[in-house]
Amino acid sequence: MTTHSLLLLPGDGIGYEVVAELRRVIEWMDSNSSAQFSVTEDDIGGAAYDRYGTPLADETLAKAKTCDAVVMGSVGGPKWDDVERHLRPEAGLLNLRKELDLFANLRPATCRPALASASSLREELVSGLDILILRELTAGVYFGEPRGIETLDDGRRRALDTQVYFESEIERLMHVAFELAARRSSKVHSVEKANVMETGVFWREIATRVGSQYPAIELEHMYADNCAMQLVRAPKQFDVIATDNLFGDILSDCAAMLTGSLGMLPSASLGPLTDGKRAALYEPVHGSAPDIAGQGIANPLATILSFAMCLRFSFAMNAEADMLESAIDNVLANDVRTVDIATTGIEPASTSEMGSAIIAELDRLKS
Ligand code: NAD
Repeated sequence: MTTHSLLLLPGDGIGYEVVAELRRVIEWMDSNSSAQFSVTEDDIGGAAYDRYGTPLADETLAKAKTCDAVVMGSVGGPKWDDVERHLRPEAGLLNLRKELDLFANLRPATCRPALASASSLREELVSGLDILILRELTAGVYFGEPRGIETLDDGRRRALDTQVYFESEIERLMHVAFELAARRSSKVHSVEKANVMETGVFWREIATRVGSQYPAIELEHMYADNCAMQLVRAPKQFDVIATDNLFGDILSDCAAMLTGSLGMLPSASLGPLTDGKRAALYEPVHGSAPDIAGQGIANPLATILSFAMCLRFSFAMNAEADMLESAIDNVLANDVRTVDIATTGIEPASTSEMGSAIIAELDRLKS
């Protein structure tokens, strides 16, 4: 039987609480699926700062580099507000992403059937929604040089950021986009601002060239402003949206809200393909939620759904990923809801009650 190595990094705040429920799911999969998991745990973020004096210790990074996949909870919290910037919890996560060269950020916006009425859009617009936003994560305007705030010789002050993309950076992202679309509904929207930005013109040229290598996938180009509008007008027209770091940041948040709660949103970040394997980090989109940490009421589903992505993308365990997602849908349909997704008249479930309901449903689906 294949054994997959997993590094679990609970992090801070509700990270610990949601990862505790994920651990139960991994244990279930270990006993009931076609593969086994060898799990190592370590600290990241504020917890790592408290233990190692740094938010990402070298030994932790070394483990992240050698395991098959990393699953994280969330980092941050007011306890570390006064810590030097480079030692703050978030710096640990940024460093991990950088060290693993996680250039492809996948954020699905999937409307789980039982939550269709929780969207800010009309139910018929979002029911059955299944979009994947693919954001370039390691280049673009958030990293480009020169940047800064400066005073010119004539005394005028100005600020600048620089949008830079190398051909190879767009190329590798677009390959991931087409490969993902081939496993979904075979459609890629490449999103930029070719009407006003040189990087947009360049992006479009390279997306078109990479697209010609995938004749079975439909490629459509769209301006980012139009994409934002279309996401709230008719989101079901999209399958995979591939875009740069800045537009991806904005569009993925916009798409996220189509689906309801922050506590339901998973993500994956993938690195380059090396010897047939990609470095991968799976984590919920939400943060450490200091306002509810320690109360046992956080929604663990974003983290569990992130693990479903891990099963699918890192381990090709599609049947198990489907089963886990079905278990979640069935539990929600049975009105087991944590407080963030509970509707009137439903007594909210605790974090561990939600975990227990998922395990019980997995048992039922397996039998
Ligand atoms: P947050 O995502 O932690 O919380 C925003 C709101 O959503 C809060 O009201 C919170 O209670 C609620 N919420 C979030 N996740 C939930 C869940 N699973 N179940 C139920 N409710 C949930 O964002 P924030 O408050 O802006 O940030 C808090 C801390 O988290 C900060 O230190 C921030 O830097 C950090 N953060 C970390 C990550 C990460 O680790 N990837 C991401 C975002 C924020």
